[in-house]
Amino acid sequence: MKQQPAIDLSPKVSDELRKTTCYMCACRCGINVHMKGGKVAYIEGNRDHPVNKGVLCAKGSAGIMQHNAPSRLRAPLKRVGARGSGEFEEISWDEALKIATDWLAPIRESDPSKLAFFTGRDQSQSFTSLWAQAYGTPNYAAHGGFCSVNMATAGIYTIGGAFWEFGQPDWDHTKLFMLFGVAEDHDSNPIKMGIGKLKARGARIIGVNPIRTGYNAVADDWVGITPGTDGLFILSMIHCLMKAGKIDLHYLAQYTDAPVLVNCDEKSPDFGLFLRDDNGKELVIDRNTGRLAAFDSPGIRPDLAATHRAAGVTHRPVFHQMAEKYLNEEYAPEAVADRVGITATRIRAIAAELARVAFEEAFELPHEWTDFRGEKHRSMTGRPVSFHAMRGISAHANGFQTCRALHVLQIILGSVEVPGGFRFKPPYPKPAKAHPKPHAACSPCSPLNGPHLGFVQGPEDLALKDDGSPARIDKAFTWENPMSSHGLMHMVISNAHAGDPYKIDTLFMYMANMSWNSSMNTGGVMEMLTDTDENGDYVIPRIIYSDAYSSEMVAFADLILPDTTYLERHDCISLLDRPICEADAAADAIRWPVVQPYRNVRGFQSVLCDLGARLKLPGFINEDGSAKYADYADYIVNHMRRPGIGPLAGFRGPQGDQSGRGDAHPEQLQRYIDNGGFFVEHIPEGANYYKPWNAAYQDWAVKMGLFDAPQPYLFSLYVEPLRKFQLAAEGHGTRQPPEHLRQRIKDHMSPLPIWYEADQQGNAGYDITALTQRPMAMYHSWGGQNAWLRQIHGHNPLYLPSNLMREHGLKDDDWARVTSPHGEIIVPVKGMAALNENTIWTWNAIGKRKGAWALRPDAPEATRGFLLNHLIHELLPPKGDGLRWANSDPITGQAAWFDLKVRIEKADAPMETEPSYSPQSSPVGTGPGEIAWKIRS
Ligand code: SF4
Repeated sequence: MKQQPAIDLSPKVSDELRKTTCYMCACRCGINVHMKGGKVAYIEGNRDHPVNKGVLCAKGSAGIMQHNAPSRLRAPLKRVGARGSGEFEEISWDEALKIATDWLAPIRESDPSKLAFFTGRDQSQSFTSLWAQAYGTPNYAAHGGFCSVNMATAGIYTIGGAFWEFGQPDWDHTKLFMLFGVAEDHDSNPIKMGIGKLKARGARIIGVNPIRTGYNAVADDWVGITPGTDGLFILSMIHCLMKAGKIDLHYLAQYTDAPVLVNCDEKSPDFGLFLRDDNGKELVIDRNTGRLAAFDSPGIRPDLAATHRAAGVTHRPVFHQMAEKYLNEEYAPEAVADRVGITATRIRAIAAELARVAFEEAFELPHEWTDFRGEKHRSMTGRPVSFHAMRGISAHANGFQTCRALHVLQIILGSVEVPGGFRFKPPYPKPAKAHPKPHAACSPCSPLNGPHLGFVQGPEDLALKDDGSPARIDKAFTWENPMSSHGLMHMVISNAHAGDPYKIDTLFMYMANMSWNSSMNTGGVMEMLTDTDENGDYVIPRIIYSDAYSSEMVAFADLILPDTTYLERHDCISLLDRPICEADAAADAIRWPVVQPYRNVRGFQSVLCDLGARLKLPGFINEDGSAKYADYADYIVNHMRRPGIGPLAGFRGPQGDQSGRGDAHPEQLQRYIDNGGFFVEHIPEGANYYKPWNAAYQDWAVKMGLFDAPQPYLFSLYVEPLRKFQLAAEGHGTRQPPEHLRQRIKDHMSPLPIWYEADQQGNAGYDITALTQRPMAMYHSWGGQNAWLRQIHGHNPLYLPSNLMREHGLKDDDWARVTSPHGEIIVPVKGMAALNENTIWTWNAIGKRKGAWALRPDAPEATRGFLLNHLIHELLPPKGDGLRWANSDPITGQAAWFDLKVRIEKADAPMETEPSYSPQSSPVGTGPGEIAWKIRS
């Protein structure tokens, strides 16, 4: 036999291993960073980590290229050319921070609302919001308003939690998994691992999405629904299940507001509100006694059917109203089939399958537990049906009610927080009432009167000034979008430019590519950022921006504060924020500088600590006026949100042996590093299901500092705060909506989920829905500059279904003109069979502007890549009433990205995609043609 070459199958890849947390997307997997000669040589998954258990995706392994990207900013920059040109000079940090302080200090002394501070894919929102609160501006939010606030808000108002970071399917017991509108990037590795588990067990997966890619491509059934009709489909399934009696009556009676009594006297000022006792507790009728009882009274059996009449007013349980509404034939499959694009037979079959698995494959886990009424249970009933949903159903103007409908479907199946169903991750469950309310009262030289964002309980909580005008620049928490719990970042630039509701002085943003892929109406936003007034001054006078990379937004700032890469910084993935918990455990994590930056850059959060001290913000200085925190690492260890509660839950107390609560421990960060970059505390068996009502879980959560006293609650099939807004619109109460919004509030803010068509005004003649998805291999705009990931998606064709390709005489790589009421693009196309027949789509954020991201001007991202954003406007077409109507959900203000309607026609191939913008000057030059280096120990 021929001699075989000697191959080293296990070469030594590194001389040191450093464990930290990935930031190539929002999943926050644990990574092992292999070092050679002090440089990053290789990244692999951390097998001990609770999120990914060693799994690493393409993005995660390509972190090495992100860390070495030629587009990294190198030093603070001061604009020297016209805004938008990209012409800067490098300055020192001292000068940069002096400029920032000189701009921000005077407006804090006169009117802090003149600062608008908004962050993008920020994973430190509990810190950035604290800074904004200390500064005193009401104008703070992160990117949730243009991402998935409908999903989060509907979930928290309905069940006290939501998908992804707030909860997950019970992967170990689920037998039927249904996912709605989920692209591949959000909740990336955990979903892939979960789907792997389901496949291994032979569980069935149903994917509902107009586009069959990624998770939907591996689903057993694909339902190519008409975009924007998910809510109607779900309500039709609720109709089928209620009509067939396939609902969990025990679960509804014991754990939800189905038996809670509602005032049914149309003339009463309390019409539609709950009947409550003197302590404000919702009342039900106890089947044991036939009498009224508070919902949490020991030993009661709440009655789903009994009514109560007192003082001439009839009170009926929520369940009555549900039956009346959803048994109506308007929700029958035959009545909705044409609109949703799914046959009535198929709707009935899916509903029947949900019921079959939930009830005929129910099982018991032998875990004893005690509920909040003191009743002991010998086991836990499992209903092995679970759901997951994301932005696809959320980013429509009817997204809030659609997301609500999905949670109601879960509830009537009895499949939330039970074995086999959807499970909360700590610090959830946490009902809307346990969250703060929004605060917006500001005054010179003072901190804001409380946290910016929160959950309103009625009109009294809106962020309005005394004259009724919006207190916030984005008009969050106003009659236009009362439940905008994440703010409306997508309206900030537009409103600031329009001076509506008021003008600002400084726009301060972090990690938000607002002049490109993060904004609707991209061209318009660039004009707003560069527009000047009659004196030649910029309409938005000052812009400060922080980013690690030379993104398109950099060119539009006056002052750049360069951030580090994720391998060069401290970060805190905190229980106060968006932690990495599992359904069975509380967990948090850190990032730490596994390499030191050699550029003149600083972690943005450390810069905020410094800026906070220079501005003398309360909480950022000691009594003698000196800086309270040396940097963000110092803050992470020593900040206390309330006594004993800090950003990290692990390794607290004098010895570092306390979890959840405890004094600061000076070695805390080293303990995290020694532990692989994370901390986990498991929920005891018997406490890990039925969490909202499980006394053992509630006690564990108090011990961990998740809340200060047990807070059991009922799921809200009927969201009473919505009804309070309707009541106001009907003329009740002292706080009244403006006349032009009365009908809209009455129509949309139904306390039981409804479906309505998104506002189609101005869309006549535009009949095709145009969508974007983010690919598995890219996270927002970051991936499009990554030397490895660009090999996967260097440009983004527009995908058309086969019928539209035929109809328009198109073949692969032809070009098409795509027109919306707002704009036009000319782009290359490809045919795709697994696509709703009236939907076109493309990958999001691949297209780049020339000059940005250190890419060459002829890079495919800049010549064949494109954005659909040019076709979308942040405002609806004018209605002739002189008002500006946001292209948003009327309840939460969520940006309605996916309501875009277009028409298409074949076009002659241009030289490159249109529109094409002139190149920006690059403050970092252009990357080399090849990137290669040898790492030696
Ligand atoms: S899923 Fe996200 S966090 Fe996890 S390895 Fe991939 S990019 Fe990193």
